[in-house]
Amino acid sequence: MNKPVETSCPECGAHVQPTASQCWLCGSRLEKIVPAVLVPTAPERSPYSFSLMTLFIVVTLVALTAGLAVIAPGLAVLLVVIAVPALIGASIRTHRMQAAGRQVTWSDRIVGAITGTAVTLGALYFIVLAGVAALFLICAYSFPR
Ligand SMILES: [Zn+2]
Repeated sequence: MNKPVETSCPECGAHVQPTASQCWLCGSRLEKIVPAVLVPTAPERSPYSFSLMTLFIVVTLVALTAGLAVIAPGLAVLLVVIAVPALIGASIRTHRMQAAGRQVTWSDRIVGAITGTAVTLGALYFIVLAGVAALFLICAYSFPR
């Protein structure tokens, strides 16, 4: 997938090395020639590879959640609360890194998953804390003194 390399002198048309700064024949400067061969192109990846992997994970999670919902509904809710933000966090991180042209490794996805879970659990913690604080305030001010 490399672009054709400009290897001829623009002045005399002689073949020159892509890295050469001067034409060996006429001596003209070759600074305008961009050594396109030095730009590595990322290996072509199937666009379905990640979405297929995500599909497998989602199907597994849905099956797990459905199974857990029958045995222990509380655990199923907990699994959804942890797994859904983890998946969203992992896919957001993956898409950001792919948009930036970086290779996405499994550790990157795991970091994204942990970040997504941590952010959600942190938000849940603060919601519960705010709820408890609100309840406390309502009770404290509504009781007759
Ligand atoms: Zn030349």
